[in-house]
Order: sequence, then C-alpha cells, then structure tokens
Amino acid sequence: MPKWKLHTEFRFDAAHFIEGYDGKCGRMHGHSYRVLMKAESSELNPSEYLDSPDMVCDFRELKWAAKDSEKGGLDHSLLNEKMDCSTTAERIAEFIHKETSKRIPDNIDLTVTVWETEDCWVEYTD
Ligand SMILES: [Zn+2]
Repeated sequence: MPKWKLHTEFRFDAAHFIEGYDGKCGRMHGHSYRVLMKAESSELNPSEYLDSPDMVCDFRELKWAAKDSEKGGLDHSLLNEKMDCSTTAERIAEFIHKETSKRIPDNIDLTVTVWETEDCWVEYTD
C-alpha cells in the first residue's frame, strides 16, 4: 500500500501559566513554541484549493496555529484564553491535534510534536 507522510514545521510565540502548578510555571511567562506536524495517509485527497485528489492535505491547513491569534491562530496569544484545559505542553499538543483534525480529511493519521523549549518536547497522536 502506498503511503505519503507530510511534514511541516512552524513556530509561534505565546504566553501561558499552568493553573495549580506549585512553582514558577504557575506564573505568567512566555515560550517560542516549535511545532512539527506529521500527516500520513494511503490516499490522496482534494482540498479547498485543488479539486483533484492529489494531496494528503493542504499544508496551510496544518499551519493554522502559526497565524496571528487575532486571525484564528495561536501566535501572540495567551494560551489560557484559547484553551479550556491546562496549558501544559501535553495539552497544547492535544489541542492542536484536535483543532487540526477538524480542518483535514478523515483518512489522515496526524502526529503533533510541540517543543516548549529546545530540549523539552512532547509528541501526541490518537
Ligand atoms: Zn511554560
């Protein structure tokens, strides 16, 4: 069976604090988050911008979170205002995964990796 694996990477800057955290992460601070999106599929799909089934999905749908928070993304946002749950890296990866899944076809396996710092990252898939 053929398989395509799409990868795209982006960064966004955001503020957050971890509610209930007993330590400095409980205070408001910021990160330059790095995100790697991996989309795998055995079938190609059309997209909003291409009628023929020739792509796994549109790269731009995978990169929505990189957009300015005033334009629907997460850049320069306070993550606690964007998410209904804790803003740990684990939850941020899950949140980006969920929101991206709404924008892409069902036949795609999505993996989201979020770096909170250069040497601390989390990978999420469902
Ligand atoms: Zn933090």
